Amino acid sequence: MGVESVNILIVPLTAHKVLEFTDYLIDELREILRDAGIDNVDLVVWPEVVKPPMKCFSWERVQYHANCVARHLMEVFQVLGLTGKSFVIGVGCLDGYEHGLNFVFGEALPEYGVSVVFTKRLRPEFYGERVDFNLYSERLVKEVAHELGHLLRLGHCENYCVMRFSNSVFEVDEKPKYYCNSCKSKIRELYMSSTK
Ligand code: ZN
Ligand code: ZN
Repeated sequence: MGVESVNILIVPLTAHKVLEFTDYLIDELREILRDAGIDNVDLVVWPEVVKPPMKCFSWERVQYHANCVARHLMEVFQVLGLTGKSFVIGVGCLDGYEHGLNFVFGEALPEYGVSVVFTKRLRPEFYGERVDFNLYSERLVKEVAHELGHLLRLGHCENYCVMRFSNSVFEVDEKPKYYCNSCKSKIRELYMSSTK
């Protein structure tokens, strides 16, 4: 028996460092979900850049407040009637923070099916390393799969798993892009029961 279909809307928050990677991202997400037993996936890239509002930007920190950006997306797509039907994942080459944390790679609001991924710190050049599009796109896929996992109601996981919490880009590199067996069975259990 298969799982109900999963609709995912990828929303570019910046054009830069996002639009050129969306085809790859979609192929990889499809593969990761297939690996988790979800074949019926509708993955769409929103055709416009949805720039986060300046009210979410801290001039003091020169960073965007992750929760504010996620809530803004939630409002935009609620008006369009798309929340509840699709998981919305905003992706931007921006720097995000949360209260009490220097930065975050992403944040999810599972109750609304909305999440955001900030990629500025996924670029090797942020750490003074050489530009590496393969490494950047691998990291991007992992962080999007991680936030999608939260939308699928997964928590953090200690296993060799994409749901491991990453405190640094090195920890992003250490984890795989796939969900572990335990998370895969949770996805199947939770997702199937929530869609019944
Ligand atoms: Zn997480
Ligand atoms: Zn896991």
